[in-house]
Amino acid sequence: MKTIIEPFRIKAVEPIRMTHLGERRQILARAHYNLFAIRSRDVMIDLLTDSGVAAMSGDQWAAIMRGDESYAGSPSFTRFEAAVKALMPFKHVIPTHQGRAAEAILFSLLGGAGRIIPSNTHFDTTRGNIEATGAEALDLPCSENGDPNSLALFKGDMDIERLKSLLEREGARVPCVMLTITNNAGGGQPASLANIRAVAELAHAFGKPFIIDGCRFAENAWFIKVRERGQSERSIPDIVRDVFACADGMTMSAKKDAFANIGGWLALNDDALAAEARTRLILTEGFPTYGGLAGRDLDAIAQGLAEIVDEDYLRYRVRVNEYVTERLASAGVPVVRPAGGHAVFLDAGRLLPHIPPLEYPGQALAVALYETGGVRGCEIGSVMFGRRPDGSEAPAAMELVRLAMPRRVYTQSHADYLIEVILAVHAERERLRGFRIVEQPLRLRHFTAKFEPLS
Ligand SMILES: *Cc1c(COP(=O)(O)O)cnc(C)c1O
Repeated sequence: MKTIIEPFRIKAVEPIRMTHLGERRQILARAHYNLFAIRSRDVMIDLLTDSGVAAMSGDQWAAIMRGDESYAGSPSFTRFEAAVKALMPFKHVIPTHQGRAAEAILFSLLGGAGRIIPSNTHFDTTRGNIEATGAEALDLPCSENGDPNSLALFKGDMDIERLKSLLEREGARVPCVMLTITNNAGGGQPASLANIRAVAELAHAFGKPFIIDGCRFAENAWFIKVRERGQSERSIPDIVRDVFACADGMTMSAKKDAFANIGGWLALNDDALAAEARTRLILTEGFPTYGGLAGRDLDAIAQGLAEIVDEDYLRYRVRVNEYVTERLASAGVPVVRPAGGHAVFLDAGRLLPHIPPLEYPGQALAVALYETGGVRGCEIGSVMFGRRPDGSEAPAAMELVRLAMPRRVYTQSHADYLIEVILAVHAERERLRGFRIVEQPLRLRHFTAKFEPLS
């Protein structure tokens, strides 16, 4: 059969509250046009993020009941640690309440003024945590990444030549080399096993630890399996193990490819660094056998890791975004292609060429999708990345709107509705106007900034 069905049945449902256009206009004004300020009950299709919003399986809910809340030495930790190590063979696994807590601990040890931390593209919290220590977060994506028309299969790759020249010129200032898989901020695009190995080799040749931000490791492994020469016959867990065998450590958000609603971890091979990280963990998160989590969360993650590497799931997962992307592209809507693993990325820069970058075309498009159809997406452009640490503004490399797909939550008809909303906004695109920011914090401003529409 050609139809790829959702590989699950639905046992519990959450009703969607229908809203109408006039209501949504009022809601937008009250939220100062920041979609993060809208209550979720006022959203019909919530694609703000794929983080922490997965539908857990019956087995995960059962695991929640198995959770043991002992302060030290809980069997939940043992199960969690074994599940992580089965896929990611690191010596030390340190649970944290989210990915960003793992980043904060790692960069409190490796960051600091004058240092440079390169990656294919840093995610926003990674960048925030690096910059908070005074270090520089440097993005070195491959050249195809910046070209929304390029159909290159591994647009999440890192630019090896630029990494090499950085290490030659500024090696003393680089404490580690990072790689984000898949490359979230760069369009949810995968990095190839060949590129991951090349980055690792280069880092190691210069004596630098190689750290993977592995939030979407399973989606990345699926892309390696179906797109990379010689990988198609291999199992997903085998590919995952190969990827992490190259690395000296990882940061992880279990809210992504572990089907959990909360959680994360920092994994390291270096004993001394891990000991320092555990000391920081006790200070800011909790005892090393629970980190910032309840025992039941550790069990939900352990079960989620067993489920996320399922090929039927990954085939369906990636297909949803391909389907939406193909339908939009064939109707002339500018989208990032090929489709990303966890999201559809609309190219607001090309869709709204009459809105200059610092009038935030991505914000204008995201607001219009909510107004028109109650769909909540997320600007990934000059609102998110346009403010420098010194407070000045510069346009981001791309003006995107990310429509992130929660795992196992929405169905085919939701995808069809989404396409209809986007096409309706596209038909009216010339009427859309930009925004100005009237209130904002210094860092991570997209979460709390207030906007005013330009007339
Ligand atoms: C979500 C995410 C993080 C941060 O994880 P949280 O659990 O949200 O703190 C880091 N890197 C990437 C690539 C992510 O997608």
